Amino acid sequence: MSKDLSPSAKKQLAARVSYYREMGIYDFYRRPSDEGVQIPLAAAPEPAHEVTDASPLPVIQDKPSALKAIREDIGDCTRCRLHKGRKNIVFGVGNMNADLMFVGEGPGADEDEQGEPFVGRAGQLLNNMISAMGLKREDVYIANVVKCRPPGNRTPEKDECDICSPFLLRQIETIQPKVIVALGAVAAKNLLAMNDSMANLRGRWYDFRGSKLAVTYHPAYLLRDPRQKKETWKKYLGLKPPPKSAEE
Ligand code: SF4
Repeated sequence: MSKDLSPSAKKQLAARVSYYREMGIYDFYRRPSDEGVQIPLAAAPEPAHEVTDASPLPVIQDKPSALKAIREDIGDCTRCRLHKGRKNIVFGVGNMNADLMFVGEGPGADEDEQGEPFVGRAGQLLNNMISAMGLKREDVYIANVVKCRPPGNRTPEKDECDICSPFLLRQIETIQPKVIVALGAVAAKNLLAMNDSMANLRGRWYDFRGSKLAVTYHPAYLLRDPRQKKETWKKYLGLKPPPKSAEE
């Protein structure tokens, strides 16, 4: 650790390194910076890990820079096979100070084309879901587990999720939403590191690194089976608000 760092910056840096180690990320490089503190960044994402705890995260003051750094780390990524068919990397979009964050599994054709998550028919359905919650799309942040479109819209493989999800975790760490909604089984299982049925995963709150997390169906599933739509609204909106601690 550099001798030039102040004691408080050293403490902040140590907390960040410890956080990444908990995430299973051990390799770091230092970004050249003309600002005082250099933040360690993961060079090589490691496989997914247990992420379900209520530990508060170090507060990130400069969210635009932190998100920019994550996007720069992704770069023109070829870390997994999904890079082969993509047109655009779909990073994430929305309010970086959002209290509510939606996490989907990966981009579809429309998202790949436009470089933005949830813009197709599934996006319209998500927008309806957001409206039904009394919010606007601009109020929330939206991202996916994998940033590149799986061929033929297949479900992303476990190794692809494992390689890409550390970027999502860093986005969550930066946004620090009060509530995360995992849209569908892939998002839920990757975030919670639990391999359970949607029926069991839905309808309750999970502690997730200082946020509350709820699981609901992916909008694409609702499009395929509209009977689920009513149930989702009822089920999701019927959830009791998260405990007080998540709202502080
Ligand atoms: Fe890289 Fe993620 Fe795209 Fe795979 S899905 S190539 S890890 S950005």
